[in-house]
Amino acid sequence: MDFAVPEPLQAVIDAINDFLDAEVIPLEKEFLGKTFTEMLPVINGLRAKVKERGWWAPNQPKELGGMGLSLTEHGLVSEALGRTPLGHYLFGCQAPDAGNAEILHMFGSEEQKAQWLKPLVNGDIRSCFAMTEPSMPGSNPIMLASTAVKDGADYVINGHKWYTTSAEGAAFAVCMAVTHPDAPPHLRASMIIVPADTPGYRIVRNIPVMGHAGDDYFSHAEVRFEDCRVPQSNLLGGEGFGFAIAQERLGPGRIHHCMRWLGICKRSFDLMCQRANERVVDMDGGVLASKQIIQTWVAESAAEIQAARLMTLQAAWKIDNVGAKAARDEIALIKFVVANTMQRVIDRALQVHGGLGMTDDTILAFFFRQERAARIYDGADEVHKVSFGKRKLRHYAGVAAAGKK
Ligand SMILES: Cc1cc2nc3c(=O)[nH]c(=O)nc-3n(C[C@H](O)[C@H](O)[C@H](O)COP(=O)(O)OP(=O)(O)OC[C@H]3O[C@@H](n4cnc5c(N)ncnc54)[C@H](O)[C@@H]3O)c2cc1C
Repeated sequence: MDFAVPEPLQAVIDAINDFLDAEVIPLEKEFLGKTFTEMLPVINGLRAKVKERGWWAPNQPKELGGMGLSLTEHGLVSEALGRTPLGHYLFGCQAPDAGNAEILHMFGSEEQKAQWLKPLVNGDIRSCFAMTEPSMPGSNPIMLASTAVKDGADYVINGHKWYTTSAEGAAFAVCMAVTHPDAPPHLRASMIIVPADTPGYRIVRNIPVMGHAGDDYFSHAEVRFEDCRVPQSNLLGGEGFGFAIAQERLGPGRIHHCMRWLGICKRSFDLMCQRANERVVDMDGGVLASKQIIQTWVAESAAEIQAARLMTLQAAWKIDNVGAKAARDEIALIKFVVANTMQRVIDRALQVHGGLGMTDDTILAFFFRQERAARIYDGADEVHKVSFGKRKLRHYAGVAAAGKK
């Protein structure tokens, strides 16, 4: 396995980093003080520049208008974009649209691709993914209360969802609902495309998360489907395959998340080291960087980031070369390793900034409150640990039973 970044890709990453430093990071103070909607004119202007430079949708195939990068290559770009909260949106590879585009590409009919995938990848519309329900454990997504019942040529959907990220302003939702209640647990639910203007689909509210309800793309909604009727042709993939499609979304999606989190680590680490070198804390002019405790945090953070990064790149390499199924263990491990590494690094960086770290004068407080969720979404850490541990122990039990070492 060779982690050397090919020279042409490195040149693109360097240019993207320069663009982010010059045109995006200076906007962060304004972004923290305004709503997303207020920022949209500026954001759309920057999106146009990204397109002009040929950097749009790095994760999408060229024939769809993207850069056509492999998972590992996109991971490296995603790491650069993760340095600023606007990065992925500006480059057209933001969640949940990236995941929805992937499943539309893999499982959508030609009509669905023409109607939804093309404008989605082009950035003309947005989407959301409505799976989690307030009354059911999101950690066990085979437990769903939402139903889609056939009536004539339609499905009639009833359900209550929340944490439907970016629902406000989305043109359609991919809704996960039970179509086959009597089937085995993993074959009960289907994915159905629900256009946002369908009667019976409504956003109840944007949920306040860590004190911020957000708006437009930067929000998480509670939504209801009330006798919401869509044609059966809006089914995505086969009936009862909702869970299988959700699994397909997971492998590449995990790499996108983890590399974005590593970008946040990099930015936080940079800020920590800069502040430690600048902040005078002794009468004789000594700076924070002269304190051993700070030196230790720097060393620990660097080691943890390096370990998490190599684990993630190895998982991406394995998915690219032998497929997501064979990389199941790696995909499970990076989830909680990278999420927790990020949290520790942000926390140390914030601590080094003292009172300044708690303000919105740096990006650290935003990272701190926004990224706590990383240990919860995309499968809570504990679920990944338990399922990995169970699998490993079963393997060892099998080895013992067979009398092998
Ligand atoms: C910021 C954010 C964005 C999100 N975006 C979306 C979205 O766009 N679309 C969508 O559908 N959902 C989304 N979600 C929902 C997310 O997927 C769920 O919150 C997650 O799956 C956990 O489900 P839950 O909240 O119901 O927690 P629960 O299932 O109630 O679990 C609570 C806690 O119990 C523990 N736990 C649960 N099961 C086990 C187990 N088997 N073993 C040990 N411990 C366990 C874990 O610590 C877990 O955190 C988002 C969530 C957040 C926070």
